[in-house]
Amino acid sequence: MNSEDFRRHAHEFVDWMADYLDGVEEYPVRAQVEPGDIAAQLPAAPPAAGEAMDAIFDDFRSIVLPGMTHWQHPGFFAYFPANSSPPSVLAEMLTATLGAQCMSWETSPAAAELETCVMDWLRAMLGLPDGFTGVIQDTASTATLSALLCARERATNDRANETGLGGEGDLTVYCAAEAHSSVEKDARIAGLGRANLRKVPLDDDFAMRPEALETLIREDIDAGRTPCCVVATLGSTGVSGFDPLRPIGEICRRHGIWLHVDAAWAGSALVLPEQRWMLDGIEFVDSFVFNPHKWLFTNFDCTGYFVRDVDALLRTFEILPEYLKTAADGRVRNYRDWGVPLGRRFRALKLWFVIRAYGVEGLQTRIRHHIEMAQGLAREVAAAEDFEVLTPCRLSLFCFRYRPAGVDDPATLDDLNALLLATLNASGALYVTHTRVDGAYAIRFCVGQTSTEQRHVDDAWQRIQATARGMSRGGRSD
Ligand SMILES: *Cc1c(COP(=O)(O)O)cnc(C)c1O
Repeated sequence: MNSEDFRRHAHEFVDWMADYLDGVEEYPVRAQVEPGDIAAQLPAAPPAAGEAMDAIFDDFRSIVLPGMTHWQHPGFFAYFPANSSPPSVLAEMLTATLGAQCMSWETSPAAAELETCVMDWLRAMLGLPDGFTGVIQDTASTATLSALLCARERATNDRANETGLGGEGDLTVYCAAEAHSSVEKDARIAGLGRANLRKVPLDDDFAMRPEALETLIREDIDAGRTPCCVVATLGSTGVSGFDPLRPIGEICRRHGIWLHVDAAWAGSALVLPEQRWMLDGIEFVDSFVFNPHKWLFTNFDCTGYFVRDVDALLRTFEILPEYLKTAADGRVRNYRDWGVPLGRRFRALKLWFVIRAYGVEGLQTRIRHHIEMAQGLAREVAAAEDFEVLTPCRLSLFCFRYRPAGVDDPATLDDLNALLLATLNASGALYVTHTRVDGAYAIRFCVGQTSTEQRHVDDAWQRIQATARGMSRGGRSD
């Protein structure tokens, strides 16, 4: 493709992109397709000769788009958001155009120095202590893996990297029972083993119970095992539980255990000074992760990982074959040594665009608005006689279920709510997902999309009520 054609198509695409974002509400939020529907439209063999971009783009619209779930839809209340924004998309276009490999300073000095700058900005914006240094990772799962690997090296005096885990005995990891599945996945692939992961019981607020943590640690020490890492969660994925960092940190300090904080979703709310209550005890924390790609208007993927001891990170990951040596080594940051992958995308650019385009106050206003909308809806759900709030709204997430008068059987209620969820999602007007709260099927509702306004939340609530009441009348939903 020559540059004239590239220019023409790029302009067409940008027009399409702006129209898409303007009209994203018109699409069904969750893709309304069955498994195999899209695959059936794709040729088994690649084309031998090149095809015209117009034909490819036509297929994008007619085949791909109907098979997409529209994460930027204002009726997206499922999982956690992955909210993007126009400034972020613009930066991604430039990043793709530059096509730079930002593994070391020399391969893209501006990418390295901009990354240092925006991570310093983010640390200040979140109210994290000065002692933390940040690096961008692809996902929270990878950042937590990095934390477990550093903790593993600390617990073994860097021997695990040298000689493997064979002679080290069992290293144990602790997280709350509602911690994200990535902790278990990471414990497995860090060589620590699922059997050495302890799920600490929760209190009534879905937070890790520190005294239960202490008991588990003592049992492991008595049995000759080595406690290695505690992963505390701020804003657990299912029910938005917040583990108390101070008492957990004091325990970690006493036993010399690495404390990692997973604030993948909730971390973005720290741009609000009134939400920094969750950082009480941060002085005990060794590493902290949050995802700007969830709730800070920055396209997936973009994870902020902060560590207190950069040397521990470098000792774990640094490796310098001859072909990667550069003249600047020793005077600059080579971020390839700050995590698992060698190659790195230029992710700092979109953060820089987003923070500058909105300003700290603009970001605060939007996140505060999401929280207010969710809190307001939780109050309305609580006030409705035939609905029940199952987890209090923390930040912008709460869980509820439909519970019409006279229906008390747990299995019946589970079925009723699973049907309610399926019916809502099949409507295409909104998208919600579920979890279990004390065994009960619960619908999660999380507000955080860039374009979600009060009318979208109001509309969702009207639909939820009408659908539920229509169902229990045994018939139509409206
Ligand atoms: C979403 C989430 C993760 C995983 O995030 P990825 O960036 O997709 O790996 C981890 N922990 C918590 C608490 C999450 O909500």
